[in-house]
Amino acid sequence: MVKIPETMFKYCTKCGKHVKMKVKQEKSARRAGGFTAMARREKRKRRGYGNKGRFSKRPVTQTKMASKTSKKVDLRLSCPDCGKIWVLSYPRTKRVEIVK
Ligand SMILES: [Zn+2]
Repeated sequence: MVKIPETMFKYCTKCGKHVKMKVKQEKSARRAGGFTAMARREKRKRRGYGNKGRFSKRPVTQTKMASKTSKKVDLRLSCPDCGKIWVLSYPRTKRVEIVK
């Protein structure tokens, strides 16, 4: 588990100085339309009868493919002066905790 501080003293290129930036962990966004492009295509292909092509087989599930148990962490650092948000990538970890 990695503990990440709530604020980081980082350089803002827009302001041209070091500022205390607020740290926020980015969560994966929910899809607005509901279906992905692939899911829409599959739905269209599965209509009616006949050969369903590549959709005839069940898809390889995420659990079968997943060999890695950790995830890369994306942090958003926001500058309090100008409001610009910087992205900081963290190496792979299982769990992340933002501490004070
Ligand atoms: Zn700034």
